[in-house]
Amino acid sequence: MADQSEILTTLKILLIGESGVGKSSLLLRFTEDTFDPEQSATIGVDFKVKTITIQGNSTKLAIWDTAGQERFRTLTPSYYRGAQGVILVYDVCKRNSFAKLDMWLNELDTYATRTDIIKMLVGNKIDKDKREVSREEGIKFARRHTMLFIEASAKTRDGVQCAFEELVQKIIQTPGLWEM
Ligand code: GDP
Ligand code: MG
Repeated sequence: MADQSEILTTLKILLIGESGVGKSSLLLRFTEDTFDPEQSATIGVDFKVKTITIQGNSTKLAIWDTAGQERFRTLTPSYYRGAQGVILVYDVCKRNSFAKLDMWLNELDTYATRTDIIKMLVGNKIDKDKREVSREEGIKFARRHTMLFIEASAKTRDGVQCAFEELVQKIIQTPGLWEM
């Protein structure tokens, strides 16, 4: 019998952002609660599946990661197709990864097949010192582009669960995003 906790659909969530900012590490932390300091830039998966429960609803996520293609700016339109949510990541200790956010949003606008895709901006690696991007700058950028925002560390777990959950919650609350 179908009930409240039935798995309703699979949501497609994307990870994008410059190479080395910690996309694969955030995914590994979220799905397996581990961290690999030796994480290789070219190791990645097509996607990982994880089911989470939000407000009594079981929601299956297919979270897509790159396998280093982003270094060559060769993410294909199929990577973006049908996604309901995107997590755009920068490294708070790398100014350049923050400067490239506009480029990533442009690419997203070009290829995303939904105009109502929900966006979460994540400033990662807050466990490190020598920060180059302040929290306020992150907040301002997110506000300007109608994005959710959180600072995180894949290493210490800070903000990781929240980043995914808040994104999914927003998707669930947005009418029409459920239907494919
Ligand atoms: P990707 O290219 O965006 O997928 O980035 P990776 O997940 O491969 O991470 C790049 C490097 O940064 C790896 O050496 C990771 O171990 C490291 N890294 C990722 N997240 C964090 C973090 O939150 N804190 C620290 N200190 N290092 C991190
Ligand atoms: Mg990666």
